[in-house]
Amino acid sequence: MPRKGQKHTEESKMKMRKAQLGKRASAETRKNMSVAQKKVKKKPLSEETKRKIGLANSVSLKGRIVPEETKKKISLALKGRPSDKKGKPISEEHRQKVIKALIGHPVSEETRKKIGNANRGKVGWLKGKHRSDKTKLKISNSRKGMVFTEDHKANISLGQMGKVAWNKGLSAETDERVRKYGESIKGEKHPNWEGGKSFEPYGTDFDEKLRRKIRARDNHTCQECDFTEEQLGRRLSVHHIDYNKKNNNSENLVSLCKSCHGQTNFKRKDWTKYLKKKVENA
Ligand SMILES: [Zn+2]
Repeated sequence: MPRKGQKHTEESKMKMRKAQLGKRASAETRKNMSVAQKKVKKKPLSEETKRKIGLANSVSLKGRIVPEETKKKISLALKGRPSDKKGKPISEEHRQKVIKALIGHPVSEETRKKIGNANRGKVGWLKGKHRSDKTKLKISNSRKGMVFTEDHKANISLGQMGKVAWNKGLSAETDERVRKYGESIKGEKHPNWEGGKSFEPYGTDFDEKLRRKIRARDNHTCQECDFTEEQLGRRLSVHHIDYNKKNNNSENLVSLCKSCHGQTNFKRKDWTKYLKKKVENA
């Protein structure tokens, strides 16, 4: 649902773009569009704007390694940039977030080589197990619209600049809308509600020892996206394939990164079927 004051969410924009794909305007429409565009006089960009655009592009395109000097430049360029809504300058905290988004994860060529070397010779437990083309297509389709490149994230971040979430700074105690919204998605009404399952305790044998065993079996690699714990810089989650937290058989457990684990909250039946097959065939 679009928030108040925002035109479209990124998701709906993506959907619209998708819907437009492959469509071709009629010859007449194209002519009209071309004429219409000629009529629009383009405002010349100020030197300042051009400089900012150039800076933003160079950073997001080159992606990873950003020298201190450039960071300073970005910081300077963004300093005092007004919010498009309230004319207030952006907070220091917000600016830091934007800079972070523009820079992305600093992974040098050297580091990448090191990761590559470290992974060399390791064989994932799923290696050689091939997904059918149909399955690949399904995965690809379900992933569409959910993978964001660093460039894309930076663009989103820029697009969000100055936009204020409808509930920012408000609480259920002080704002009726916030209270109502909270009520509307509470507990059983929440889309992820699974009959109160998450309140059930994990089986006692699901402990760190078992999780370590599963992560080791999976080569410390997310079994969905193939990122390693080393690359991610954090431990993998151990997921219960059938969502039954008391079923701690190793065939019911699989290592997933935080992002992929998050995806398993949706389309649970599909995920169970898919991951079951994966582990069975391993
Ligand atoms: Zn993953």
